[in-house]
Amino acid sequence: MSVDLVEVHGDLFHPIWLRDNCLCLECRHAWTFWKTVDISRFSERSSIIKEVDLNQESLVVLWDEEPGHRSVFPLEWLSAHAYGRQQISPRLVHDHALWDAATWTDTSPPSHALADCASDGGTWAEDLARNGFVFLDGAAEDSVENFASRIGPLQPTEFGRSIAVQATPEANHPVKSGNELTPHTDFSTYLNVAPLLQFMLFIKNDAVGGDSILVDGFMVAEHFRKDHPDHFERLTMTPINFQQVYPDWEYFLARRRSIIEVDRSGNIEGVFFHHSHTCNWDLPPEEVGAFYEAYFLFFDYLRNPDFQLRRHTPAGRCIALQNGRILHGRAPYDPSSGGRTLIDSYVPWEYFEARLRYRQFNGFYPAAGKKYSGSGLGARVI
Ligand SMILES: [Zn+2]
Repeated sequence: MSVDLVEVHGDLFHPIWLRDNCLCLECRHAWTFWKTVDISRFSERSSIIKEVDLNQESLVVLWDEEPGHRSVFPLEWLSAHAYGRQQISPRLVHDHALWDAATWTDTSPPSHALADCASDGGTWAEDLARNGFVFLDGAAEDSVENFASRIGPLQPTEFGRSIAVQATPEANHPVKSGNELTPHTDFSTYLNVAPLLQFMLFIKNDAVGGDSILVDGFMVAEHFRKDHPDHFERLTMTPINFQQVYPDWEYFLARRRSIIEVDRSGNIEGVFFHHSHTCNWDLPPEEVGAFYEAYFLFFDYLRNPDFQLRRHTPAGRCIALQNGRILHGRAPYDPSSGGRTLIDSYVPWEYFEARLRYRQFNGFYPAAGKKYSGSGLGARVI
């Protein structure tokens, strides 16, 4: 039977795609769900259907092969994999709730007791996915690294597994002072690392000033696009050279990327910004003026208090945030007025996304629900 396309409740599928994606355990490894059959090696590459049956739960296809082969596709699985709809997308499947300062005037920012997170059914993680950040309270000094490493392997830093940030008289880094820090993202501007889930644990904070500042970069970028479409376009198109020099380790890190990254449909995928690291732009001289106009205007948006959540962060609170969507900064403070110490740790954001995606779609996979094989990550917290 020659079938060009199989229609299932309005979605169209090519026979060759269906054959290539057969879900049976002859064609898949049960645990990893790897394809174990390579149809490009079949003598006849255009898969031919002998019979199709669409019932309430599934699409059943009998293939014209020797020996015969039968594929069963649950309708839910087909729907999730329909061409063009990308339900299982490389990007996070949760809807973003974009926010600005006004969002938090009557509503408290999402916060959870760290001790409850492992058993809260993933509520804390959904809050983080939706808002780009979450406060985790009651965190002891060593608890966050442990918590983070149960999501994925920690991202190593040049400072070690984590970075202690506190003002010291001999500090050789502007972060380790009482200076204001304008909203920025960490690492990903000057280093080719994956987008990060960042944990900022405050183990001490009784200094005067130094409020934490969070900015939803996606919200700012959406406003910026609406108000200044030409400037927005320019920032998505212009590669910027970011630099970081570290005499301690004799590193001169340099990376090129755009401040605002959009996918092929125009959705904002990332905002990466750190004014202190921006260096130069690959532009003809006559475009530099227009670029600066866009760049400084976007910086103004990020510094606009209307877009900022500003809070004193008490000791024992950890701010978990999506570095690449949420920018962070701090108001200036007086180091002589008290101590302010925080510890930064990072996990690649993709492991966090992968856990949420697994929770949503594990029903499709035959091995789901079987005993965890263990991998050194420890008991899961989502
Ligand atoms: Zn099969």
